[in-house]
Amino acid sequence: MAQVVNIGQLHQHVGSSVTIEGWLYNKRSSGKIHFLQVRDGTGLVQCVVVKSAVTPEVFEHSGMLTQESSCRVTGSVRADERAPGGYEVDVQDIEIVQMAQEYPITHKEHGVDFLMDHRHLWIRVPRQRAIMRIRAEVQRAIFDFLDNRGFTRVDPPILTPSSCEDTTELFQTKYFDEEAYLTQSGQMYMEAAAMSLGRVYSFGPCFRAEKSKTRRHLIEFWMVEPEMAYVDHDENLRIQEQLVSHIVQHVLDHCEAELHTLGRDVAKLAKVPGQFPRISYDDAIAWLHNNGFDIQWGDDFGAPHETALAGQYDQPLFIERYPTKIKAFYMQPDPLRPEVVLCADMLAPEGYGEIVGGSQRIADYDLLKTRFEEHRLPADTYAWYLDLRRYGSVPHSGFGLGLERTVAWICGLEHIREAIAFPRTLYRLYP
Ligand code: ATP
Ligand code: MG
Ligand code: MG
Ligand code: MG
Repeated sequence: MAQVVNIGQLHQHVGSSVTIEGWLYNKRSSGKIHFLQVRDGTGLVQCVVVKSAVTPEVFEHSGMLTQESSCRVTGSVRADERAPGGYEVDVQDIEIVQMAQEYPITHKEHGVDFLMDHRHLWIRVPRQRAIMRIRAEVQRAIFDFLDNRGFTRVDPPILTPSSCEDTTELFQTKYFDEEAYLTQSGQMYMEAAAMSLGRVYSFGPCFRAEKSKTRRHLIEFWMVEPEMAYVDHDENLRIQEQLVSHIVQHVLDHCEAELHTLGRDVAKLAKVPGQFPRISYDDAIAWLHNNGFDIQWGDDFGAPHETALAGQYDQPLFIERYPTKIKAFYMQPDPLRPEVVLCADMLAPEGYGEIVGGSQRIADYDLLKTRFEEHRLPADTYAWYLDLRRYGSVPHSGFGLGLERTVAWICGLEHIREAIAFPRTLYRLYP
């Protein structure tokens, strides 16, 4: 063995002998040379085993290596412009760590169900690795952005006694003798935390028993939920556009290779950062009418509406001030027009739909209490939330950004299931 290095760092070791610890991704052989494509989590490199340059044993072992066998490869690093990563390794020695059995995922096409059944193995391919890397960088960008702007991360509970909205999408479970639900949003807890810390955010899993089969809904997904005291609707939107611009710029700056692996059109992403267009719900309805959609003022948008509206722009689009009656009970009515609320959805371009939902929250005790009654919400489970309006209530706003939706859009994925390592979907709890 020589010094163990990462494939991603080979440029630092040209001319020296190194050891790579990895797995065999693919192999080609001519009689006297084996070309081993080895991956190690940081990259993929071609390792060349020349019969006349190694012992007969090493040559024989490299010929036997099966797809996904784990191995330590020692050899000298050579720069080669024609090689995919720019380098090749001239092999001196190979140690087989484990000879893999016949690998179910070949380099041929497989159906989605088969791939999902083998998700634990499917995540090893370069495309899936690129998505997981971008997902991690999106998270890093979110934390960078918020931590540098005075936000404190607070972790809300996963097991909750109540729900933000209605219970049809809730996963119910037992909490000893009580009924409990898996959280579908940490928002209300974040509102409480914002009254302590000013600017807070949570980041964690959310659970929704979404019964419809769409390309953009998961049963378990991750959401970042910032909540800000003394922030109104306009400032809420500015923070959202800055956050999303920062995420996209960060991925463009740090994930060039991954975006390339995915074949993503980066010119489209490069147009995103900046100020995002804003249109009112009213104007959106009018535009849809003029473009042949059958939709009335008061209806919520479906995927085709969102795709058509956002399709006019290169950047994400804010649609603001939705009808009060179709939005959540805690949203602040527009003082000039109480039939609409101070909320906005951010729609991603290219048909990815809503990636952010946010609003200014009702700060007034009496109004919030009236809303509780109108929505027939259980007074006892929400008493603590009403308390926030009794002790130093302030105007405040927040939003929820769905991680997988954002990743699906940035990566240009056809279906949200690829945006998380082990997706939970309507008919799948395995692996
Ligand atoms: P949709 O209208 O698409 O069902 P929503 O309005 O129910 O979304 P919110 O409650 O506003 O969603 O949640 C905030 C964000 O969380 C959404 O903008 C989206 O990015 C993400 N999100 C919501 N539901 C899901 C889901 N089932 N799977 C993945 N992401 C989701
Ligand atoms: Mg929904
Ligand atoms: Mg929605
Ligand atoms: Mg929403």
